[in-house]
Amino acid sequence: MGVFGHIGLGFIIKRFTPQIPLWILVVSTMFIDLLAMTFFIFAPLWTTHGLFMSLIWSIVAFFSTVFITKYLNNKRDINTSIDIINTSVVIGMLVFSHWVIDLIGWSMTGNGIPLLFNDSQLLLLDFQIDLIIGLLIMEIGPMIVGLVIYIHYIRHLKKSQINKA
Ligand SMILES: [Zn+2]
Repeated sequence: MGVFGHIGLGFIIKRFTPQIPLWILVVSTMFIDLLAMTFFIFAPLWTTHGLFMSLIWSIVAFFSTVFITKYLNNKRDINTSIDIINTSVVIGMLVFSHWVIDLIGWSMTGNGIPLLFNDSQLLLLDFQIDLIIGLLIMEIGPMIVGLVIYIHYIRHLKKSQINKA
């Protein structure tokens, strides 16, 4: 399974968290793959995609966001302060969403996802689904829904800006 399910989720969430830049939402959904592609290319799968480590990475993302938004708030005046907890919870949950989406996606292709520290403990959801339908549900669908919601949101934003002017 590819990346479009993850990215699509980032686009969907932007509608509900206008204070967070889109690229940060997308990077958060892909954070675990980015880890796997860069530092952990020679490390076992569980270090990035295991359930336990995914939770750890989500917590790391949560606290990193707390510190960064605190820093950004200090630099700005109080009226435009970022809601620290809201923003950090969203980022942490998006990082963890990667594991959930991969669990479903990998199960479709008959692959298990690690639970703890070694690859022998794999979680595999037991369901049979046509690959084309799987791609529609997990990849193409979320990307199209994400883009539609995002474009609608941007249009709405532009309209309200014109009305304000
Ligand atoms: Zn992945």
